Amino acid sequence: MDAHVLTEERPAGGAAASPAALPPTYLESLLAAGLLIETGVRGLYGRSAVFEGIADALNAVITRIGVDQQAEVLRFPPALGQTDFETSEYLNSFPQLAGTIHSFCGDERAHRRLLARLEDKQDWTDQQEPTGLVLTPAACYPIYPVIAKRGPLPQAGKVVDVLSYCYRHEPSLEPTRMQLFRQREYVCLGSPERIVAFRQLWMERGQQLGRDLQLPLEVDIANDPFFGRGGKIVADSQREQKLKFELLIPVNDGAPPTACMSFNYHMDHFGSLWHIALEDGSTAHTGCVGFGIERLVLALLKHHGLDPANWPQGVRDTLGDV
Ligand code: AMP
Ligand code: ZN
Repeated sequence: MDAHVLTEERPAGGAAASPAALPPTYLESLLAAGLLIETGVRGLYGRSAVFEGIADALNAVITRIGVDQQAEVLRFPPALGQTDFETSEYLNSFPQLAGTIHSFCGDERAHRRLLARLEDKQDWTDQQEPTGLVLTPAACYPIYPVIAKRGPLPQAGKVVDVLSYCYRHEPSLEPTRMQLFRQREYVCLGSPERIVAFRQLWMERGQQLGRDLQLPLEVDIANDPFFGRGGKIVADSQREQKLKFELLIPVNDGAPPTACMSFNYHMDHFGSLWHIALEDGSTAHTGCVGFGIERLVLALLKHHGLDPANWPQGVRDTLGDV
């Protein structure tokens, strides 16, 4: 509910709004070219047809390179039921990123009170009540309860293909850090050996895709923003156990490279929370590869220019029609 309106000295409203001496930031260039469309809220943008064309092409490539996974395609709207969200334990690790959906549930008197608040330019959001829906924080979250309800998995495990808008409350002026963005994922459920092999395969495929797209990249152990003092211990352990790797590409002016894909091994975390078992009764291990669709589009635009018609032929060939 707290809108983070662009109030920086340097608003994102296009090059004309910035001091004459400074070149436009990457965000300003994207807005000026109409690729992203400003809403007045940091990290919340519209997308142009060109932007969406690149996003669609990326999704098609990811489908193509994952055909051999024989993944079950599952799509969900970008929300989870509150109970499933609680079970996921997301609030233990990232309470600062979660977003909940609230609605007006009152009678006519309450409606008059709501309108009076608006009229008086007072805060009206305390008139809203929780709906029992939580915005999806990562595209794979909705699938675990669904798979769990089906009963034990075949011993060989399985792969699921998901795509969802995700919400994270991290308003920023960096165009790569959005509040609502898409993650495409392949999620693998099975034995520990299968997940480790799956992750290795996708680390290789992710790097190959980056090279085919002629993007400068490196892979490194990830640093998730676990909350609070206890979170530091979890983050250290995640790093020590090498549970998560990221593919990084320089995108933002003068900033460290940005994670555009992640390769995760959750061990039995979700399998235990949801009681997902294999045929032999053992708890399923899980892992996922996540492609940040907007970040990959932004990386392509940054390195090859704002007009895909002028991109190198090899990149255009990899993407098919853009
Ligand atoms: P994660 O679940 O944090 O591993 O995220 C998976 C992928 O989603 C990352 O590698 C990014 O490409 C993308 N992503 C994560 N957070 C954001 C964000 N705030 N804005 C845009 N893309 C994001
Ligand atoms: Zn995932």
